[in-house]
Amino acid sequence: MKRIDLHIHTTASDGTESPGAVVREAARLGLAAIAVTDHDTCDGYREAAAEGAKLGVEVVPGIEISTKYGGAVHILGYYIDVDSPALQEVLDWIVRDRDERNEKICALMRADGIDVDYGEMRARFGEVIGRPHFAEILVERGLAHDMHEAFDLYVEKGRKYYQGRSFLPIERSIELIREAGGVPVLAHPFQYKRDDAGLRALIELCMRSGLRGMECRYSGYDAAMSAYLEALAAEYGLIRTGGSDFHGSIKPEIRLGDGKGGLEVPLAFLDELKRAAGKDGR
Ligand code: AMP
Ligand code: FE
Ligand code: FE
Ligand code: ZN
Repeated sequence: MKRIDLHIHTTASDGTESPGAVVREAARLGLAAIAVTDHDTCDGYREAAAEGAKLGVEVVPGIEISTKYGGAVHILGYYIDVDSPALQEVLDWIVRDRDERNEKICALMRADGIDVDYGEMRARFGEVIGRPHFAEILVERGLAHDMHEAFDLYVEKGRKYYQGRSFLPIERSIELIREAGGVPVLAHPFQYKRDDAGLRALIELCMRSGLRGMECRYSGYDAAMSAYLEALAAEYGLIRTGGSDFHGSIKPEIRLGDGKGGLEVPLAFLDELKRAAGKDGR
């Protein structure tokens, strides 16, 4: 069976591997297709697509937008027009909002004698800088043993270097993906800690804005969890997607294409996605 991975982060957001390196690894693993789904940016797509064309790995343009509905909810968008000015305008707003928040975090750290400069962080990590980058710095400076501890001690909500940021409403993020020609998909549905009724309410809310799919296979989801999600997707007429949420060495337990072991996303899921995007060429 040909396998794919439709949920991958690169250095364009908080992943540690460049888009080209991710595609080379996908080729080595024999994956037929991947989607680059960085947080709040499509900037990794071009490099990945160019490498994919050389190595025979199909690369799907994607994005993962963070929204708030109670807690955090993530919406994936596939086959968005990465040149859409309307999309870029909103993504630019998100980057500016992150910049303001991140400058505040730097100030708090400097007040504690930790030498951080946001300009240097921008030069090193690029445009989309998040708490994982601060966690990485805290680990490097020996203030935490690993990312997990850095979050627990410093950047998790309620900790001393936590600062909030703004989020697009869930409805707006789904509409935005549709306006950019993309297919909106609810990411990792079990992450929101909802019971069946709660998840259904979330799906129904998202569908009113144009949700088209649900991520049914994901790192750490066992066969029963995926079967439950796939049955829900069928009931609601949503397409199924799946992916690892690979981030490179900051989440070393997650492997490209394989997740935490045993992840299987079939090429047939990409066919469903292409049909939803009107890209099936028929
Ligand atoms: P930000 O959007 O910059 O506030 O950072 C949120 C990101 O941090 C999420 O997308 C997660 O990938 C990551 N994150 C949140 N909590 C944790 C945690 N406890 N350990 C590791 N990563 C986390
Ligand atoms: Fe992330
Ligand atoms: Fe996510
Ligand atoms: Zn993700």
